[in-house]
Amino acid sequence: MLPRFLRYPRRPFRRALKVKQSMGQKSRKIEQCAVVGAGIMGGGIAYASVLAGVPIRMKDIERGQLERGAQEVERVLARQIKAGRLTEEAAQQVRSRLTAQLDYAGFDQVDLVIEAVVENLAVKHRVLAEIEGLVGPEAIIATNTSSLRIDDLASPLERPERFVGLHFFNPVPMMPLVEVIRGSRTSEATVATAVDYASTLGKTPIVVKDCPGFLVNRLLTAYLLGFAELIYDGADYIKVDEAMERFGWPMGPAYLVDVIGLDTMSHIIEIICAGYPERMVNKTLEPTKVLAAKGRLGQKSRLGFYRYETDSSGKRKKLPQPDTYQLLAASQPNGTREFSETEIVERMMLPMVLEAAVALEEGIVESTTALDTAMSLGLGFPKHAGGPLKYADSLGLDKVVELSDKYAKLGPLYRPSDKLRRMAAEKSRFYAS
Ligand code: NAD
Repeated sequence: MLPRFLRYPRRPFRRALKVKQSMGQKSRKIEQCAVVGAGIMGGGIAYASVLAGVPIRMKDIERGQLERGAQEVERVLARQIKAGRLTEEAAQQVRSRLTAQLDYAGFDQVDLVIEAVVENLAVKHRVLAEIEGLVGPEAIIATNTSSLRIDDLASPLERPERFVGLHFFNPVPMMPLVEVIRGSRTSEATVATAVDYASTLGKTPIVVKDCPGFLVNRLLTAYLLGFAELIYDGADYIKVDEAMERFGWPMGPAYLVDVIGLDTMSHIIEIICAGYPERMVNKTLEPTKVLAAKGRLGQKSRLGFYRYETDSSGKRKKLPQPDTYQLLAASQPNGTREFSETEIVERMMLPMVLEAAVALEEGIVESTTALDTAMSLGLGFPKHAGGPLKYADSLGLDKVVELSDKYAKLGPLYRPSDKLRRMAAEKSRFYAS
């Protein structure tokens, strides 16, 4: 669950921000779709779809989940009506577009199925094969996985060219970004259709090449490893949060990890690190693990780095939790020490900037603008800095390399690519000035 700030912006992000995506192919109009899995994400996707006028079948194996998914749609509708954004009549129309079901009835009629079941490769393989056996030959199958590779998921499919990643962010009704992930066998027409569907939902689609973590979670992982290194070296997590919030992030890294869930984040980081062993070494993840091992999972267990209490008006409050320091001491072999705010910001931002440069070099996204937009919309990258690449330009690439050299002793996370070094030597930039 994301912070209130990201969950309930004053106005939902209705209009997709335009990022040029070179779609060489004609897309296919999605008139009917389905989502398999009625959990947090499936329910949100169903809501976004029916609100945008695209009827959807929502399938789950548990009646309770279907009911919860439908209740979630009701809850958001009620909020929209109360805020005067939707009439009761319009809400009724929206409701009529949703069919909650325990079977696969009607799947032979849909143009798109989005798989949103639990994050488990074997379960997803089984569900995807089931779906492929039911839908028409032209239908597209998408997955909302957050950490599994599209190519791995596609392996049992007979028509991998019709398979694509549609990575929505939580909570779906409010989050404007969708990463559209192109597997190595995904056809251009499938990508174009997925992009159009995300736009129909009022989202900003960014096409990303299949890689561990895709774009946003990959760069987030580099940033959180920077945080883990700081804690390992003795930094005070509250001071790190304060420094990063003053820098412009909606929340500091400890608070962010609390919101995402310490167990979830550890799992995602572990998978992503395994994909980049040459740069992302998971040695200092202990702080998150230490807390998670004590059952402190973040906001969902009311205790993580911080303690969470709900006041009499129902507002959630974040409070310091003194014993966090004692627990973290186990992962600070050299004790604690003071860090200047400048050092905190440099050590936190550099890994993300350097990983952004590598992702761009690898062609994970099409353009600097696409990368920076994804990081702003998906993660709330500080507005004044514009995105990791724009921020690098504003520092000057020579300064980025100079800082990397300053922190070289911290390991490969702080090592710039050869290309970035060349760009710095040539006084080059990511954006034309
Ligand atoms: P969840 O646990 O809330 O929901 C999963 C749902 O799938 C449950 O309702 C479960 O009953 C259902 N399910 C399990 N097996 C099924 C089957 N064989 N057929 C039909 N339904 C089945 O999970 P979630 O958080 O909604 O995550 C779903 C997917 O979205 C995962 O791949 C996750 O990685 C991804 N995702 C999650 C988030 C997030 O913040 N929660 C963000 C982005 C992507």
